Amino acid sequence: MKILKTVSSVQKLSSKLRSQNKIIGFVPTMGYLHAGHLSLVRRARKIAGPRGKVVVSIYVNPTQFGPAEDFDRYPRDLKQDLKLIQGVGVDICFTPSVAEIYPDGFQTSVEVERVTQNLCGIARPDHFRGVTTVVAKLFNIVKPHLALFGQKDYQQLVAIKRMVKDLNMDIEVIGMPTIRESDGLAMSSRNTYLHPKKRKEAARLYRSLIKGKELFALGERSAATILQEVRGIIEEDKAAVIDYVKICDAHTLEDIEEIKGEAVIALAVKMGKTRLIDNIILKEE
Ligand code: AMP
Repeated sequence: MKILKTVSSVQKLSSKLRSQNKIIGFVPTMGYLHAGHLSLVRRARKIAGPRGKVVVSIYVNPTQFGPAEDFDRYPRDLKQDLKLIQGVGVDICFTPSVAEIYPDGFQTSVEVERVTQNLCGIARPDHFRGVTTVVAKLFNIVKPHLALFGQKDYQQLVAIKRMVKDLNMDIEVIGMPTIRESDGLAMSSRNTYLHPKKRKEAARLYRSLIKGKELFALGERSAATILQEVRGIIEEDKAAVIDYVKICDAHTLEDIEEIKGEAVIALAVKMGKTRLIDNIILKEE
């Protein structure tokens, strides 16, 4: 596995691979890798095929963190990350510094408008601009044919698909299912922040989403009715602070009252100091 730290070295290698007609599969991450990340990498490995190349970036992007957020204390363990990705057949790992990505004079951003305004966009108004800008840059550096993102960060996935479409980027964006702990909690690098007691309580988030999905399966189509049940399960934990629990159109991410077509139940809940997000798709089987 090649470990590269500069933009120019990755761009040079990607151009060479493209000239050799090699498929480049790309998984951008912020590191502190877990089985969720590795599921994306394995899928990239499979799609790229034995002749293709898999690139993983590990970069904690400061511009997607708000001023009061956890950029400084975001967990990092590069040594362990490198060991993990080596074990699943990654060819190239890109680990740039902040100065490499945002050199002096940097002043351009990519902003996807409507789909980033609801849900996490309300409490984190600059977050998605940071995400789409860095992902656009990474796409220009790695020049992948395909890029994989987790459905766990559903709004991010929708925003990136929108950016790729709107800016005619010639990249296939593949959304991947959320990998969960055995009690249902969505895997996340931030789960390490959770105190053991809160960690146990956190499983109720997925239980609440499952309850919502069950009601939908039984024919309930009123968002308010489903949300009341979902909120009820979360609020049984008196310490949980709901940022939002919403049912939105799965494509526009606008709030809906009655579920028609594909929808998503999305939530963000603070358990102690840790803000957790999760979601589940509702669609007719
Ligand atoms: P992050 O390092 O948190 O920025 O995540 C990097 C990529 O891994 C993103 O596309 C995430 O959506 C994806 N990801 C994170 N957690 C999971 C999970 N539990 N299951 C599947 N994908 C995930």
